[in-house]
Amino acid sequence: MSDTIFGKIIRREIPADIVYEDDLALAFKDITPVAPTHILVIPKKPISKLEDSTPEDQALLGHLLLTAKKVAAEAGLTNGYRVVINNGKHGGQTVYHLHLHVLGDRPLKWPPG
Ligand code: AMP
Repeated sequence: MSDTIFGKIIRREIPADIVYEDDLALAFKDITPVAPTHILVIPKKPISKLEDSTPEDQALLGHLLLTAKKVAAEAGLTNGYRVVINNGKHGGQTVYHLHLHVLGDRPLKWPPG
């Protein structure tokens, strides 16, 4: 896949407010938050979108979900939160490096727009 702004964040070429990092994943605050807490969890492996993941990525995808749970707990989201993956054009994806949005600290409506 081609490089994205998230690749630049992983390589520390541009700044981000990083809240968690390990060998496989990085989590940082969204630059345009849509909730009082809005954190993005990304794999360091450059997967463009969920649709492009493969069975080989099974453990990594599970790790990203557990990382989302961890950063939500560290952010103190005790009243619940939402984890969102936008996939492709109709999913509203704008950055083509797989990412999980962790949204919280306000009640969220359903269904999404
Ligand atoms: P999506 O629309 O699902 O592809 O989400 C991409 C998200 O990346 C949006 O919520 C943007 O606000 C966020 N974003 C874009 N550039 C940056 C950046 N440099 N640092 C943090 N978040 C960013």
